[in-house]
Amino acid sequence: MIYDIAIIGAGASGLMFASNFDKKKYKNVCLIDANPKIGEKIKISGGGKCNITNEYVSSKNYLGNRKLVDEVFKTFSKDDLLKFLNKNQVFTKLDPRLTKGTYFCKSSSDVISMFSHLTSKVRKYLNTKVLDIDFNKNFKIKTQNQIIEAKKVIIASGGLSYPKLNASSIAYDIAQKFGHSIVRCEPALVGFTVQKEQFWFKNLSGISLDAKVFVEGKEIEGSLLFAHKGCSGPVILTTSLYWKKGKIAIDFLANKNIEDFLKGNKKISSALPLPKRFIQEFLSSINLEDKAVSSLSDEEKEKLKNLKYYEFSPAGNFGFSKAEVTRGGISTDEINHKTFESLKQKDLYFIGECLDITGELGGFNFQFAFSSAISCSRYLK
Ligand SMILES: Cc1cc2nc3c(=O)[nH]c(=O)nc-3n(C[C@H](O)[C@H](O)[C@H](O)COP(=O)(O)OP(=O)(O)OC[C@H]3O[C@@H](n4cnc5c(N)ncnc54)[C@H](O)[C@@H]3O)c2cc1C
Repeated sequence: MIYDIAIIGAGASGLMFASNFDKKKYKNVCLIDANPKIGEKIKISGGGKCNITNEYVSSKNYLGNRKLVDEVFKTFSKDDLLKFLNKNQVFTKLDPRLTKGTYFCKSSSDVISMFSHLTSKVRKYLNTKVLDIDFNKNFKIKTQNQIIEAKKVIIASGGLSYPKLNASSIAYDIAQKFGHSIVRCEPALVGFTVQKEQFWFKNLSGISLDAKVFVEGKEIEGSLLFAHKGCSGPVILTTSLYWKKGKIAIDFLANKNIEDFLKGNKKISSALPLPKRFIQEFLSSINLEDKAVSSLSDEEKEKLKNLKYYEFSPAGNFGFSKAEVTRGGISTDEINHKTFESLKQKDLYFIGECLDITGELGGFNFQFAFSSAISCSRYLK
């Protein structure tokens, strides 16, 4: 049998496409995934509650071609997504616990059940890893079990992050095979490892505080979490999207004036509105004793002001095994911005995270995966 459409990847974008293609026109459609179940990444997302979109979605929250992002959101916006979910009994709540404007579901399982229901008539090949594709009149999709033939192929196989959930380079391999260029792929939305000078971060593993980070001309605010390898937490994850190399700076007293706290006889660790253990580690890193703020010399006060702009170069990041997304991917210059069809190979389409579009932390990546899938399904000829 030759399928009308084969979708590679039963993740966010593949499932959205499989739920929305024109069922009158395309009768034989299949969905292929290496995992034993659909939507494995959706399941673990947002701590099991799937941070599905963001109140403030805009192309400014993405790296990559922003014109394409604007265009795709005109076709399927955040409000369209919320309506779609509501219509399918998935109820969301605006809950900025992670970062500003985040929408969470009651449970990620609700999203998976919705997609399971909407794609019930689509033939599924699970536990089926795609190894290669050839084109000769039709596409021949080589898996470890068989060869699946299709007239059109939708590549929705995501990026390289979370290899333990079967992430693979197949989208990039296929794209390159058909003549596409790839923008260098790197882990993003990931914690930072630190250099020797910041090893004191490691002693604070588990402590979190609100901070502002300055990176590449941007200011990002949110919770920072110290980790045994360095630092993480929402503010750092978004910072990692923009950081390539070189320095970042952290304001540990975001939106507070340090001068207001350098009065009176309290010790530094009691005077400053920060976790005591953090202050103690910070003071020892700058060789300053924890003493009454009234006894600080001007030079010592200047040293303390580092808390407002603590500059350092991260050593690197925690890698693809911990990264939520892949920055970079298939260049959007060679993709039709409405249909998502390859400009190199007719009837071959790329949607979702495999493209060179990456969003900040906060529901932006699901929104793009879903919007690109809807645009592709709607304009498919
Ligand atoms: C821990 C974690 C938490 C996250 N939380 C959020 C969140 O709350 N909000 C948010 O917006 N984003 C979140 N993300 C990012 C989000 O999950 C992705 O950006 C999104 O799922 C991308 O959708 P996609 O369809 O492009 O790829 P995916 O959803 O990754 O789907 C790709 C599918 O392709 C399959 N596949 C890959 N290679 C092959 C192959 N060779 N053969 C067959 N199948 C293959 C995979 O098994 C997978 O099922 C999170 C990511 C992680 C890792």
